Amino acid sequence: MVTRLQSSGRAALTEDKQVTSFSDLMPKPDIKPELLLKLSSRLQTTLELELLLDIFFNEIKHAVLVDSMCYSNSNQNLLNSYGKVGIHSCTYRLTTHKDYMGELTFSRSTRFREHELANIEGLISTLVYPLRNAVHYTEALAAAFRDPLTGAGNRIALDKTLSREVELAKRHSQPLSVLMLDIDHFKNVNDTYGHAMGDEVLKQVVKSITACIRQTDMCFRYGGEEFLIMLASADSEGAHRIAERIRYSIEAAVFTHKKGSLSITSSIGSATLFASDTMRSICERADSALYKAKNSGRNQVITDHEEILLATN
Ligand code: GH3
Ligand code: MG
Ligand code: MG
Repeated sequence: MVTRLQSSGRAALTEDKQVTSFSDLMPKPDIKPELLLKLSSRLQTTLELELLLDIFFNEIKHAVLVDSMCYSNSNQNLLNSYGKVGIHSCTYRLTTHKDYMGELTFSRSTRFREHELANIEGLISTLVYPLRNAVHYTEALAAAFRDPLTGAGNRIALDKTLSREVELAKRHSQPLSVLMLDIDHFKNVNDTYGHAMGDEVLKQVVKSITACIRQTDMCFRYGGEEFLIMLASADSEGAHRIAERIRYSIEAAVFTHKKGSLSITSSIGSATLFASDTMRSICERADSALYKAKNSGRNQVITDHEEILLATN
């Protein structure tokens, strides 16, 4: 069952126009019912968001002349574009009775007429529920790879991503570095301020890390208060620099609690990929550098000693 679709159409660049779907004042869609039926059954063949939108874009072109389609969903951080953008556009906000499903924008080089907007709306109404299912599926897939507390990647995501990136970096002779980060004396935070405060600290640590790395880099929760940061295209020096930035950012964050304010420090081990490395061996080298950082007084970054030996020989 399709509930009412909210939509607003912009028929020209300068003109904002409210188009309420199937209102009495609007032209009725003149699409053949067979087309709607065919589209509807095709849209039910997949849960893959990209494939679904691709099917929809290709089918809608049989009924209305459109040059491009863009789907965006800011809640889910989704953006998919198809075709070449023209200067005239119409945008629809998609909602079911309880979920916001994002926005769809169509464009072309000529102005959209009212009956064409009505047709677009008629076609979109077949997309809303398949789209909701695909967005929920995408969400569930993403959640399966995320640590629920901090939003960092989990161990499943780490194994998948790092093994792929190690192979790619070796094949293309690109640098790749791994940082292993562990919060110092974290048990004291839980013991003194409570587990809830500990959780807040973990979330803030991931925010600090994420703010210091690029979009192509990734942060994973390796264990309780230990994080692995994968730095794509970073050599040993670059990785050390980023690690220092992360260490400083974590140290600078101040947490408030009724027992008083607190701040924390972290220790970081850094390792950069050798040609002979596997995913496991680079992680072990970062881990042993972390162990040294802990044993040398904590709150510091240590680069794997084999790299230092190589650099000095
Ligand atoms: P070190 O400087 O040697 O790393 O000491 P530490 O206290 O940080 O390390 P230790 O391994 O002794 O303690 C880690 C603590 O992290 C113990 C555990 O209860 C806590 N921890 C692990 N996961 C979570 C979590 O999800 N939330 C909270 N609040 N605490 C956690
Ligand atoms: Mg610790
Ligand atoms: Mg630890």
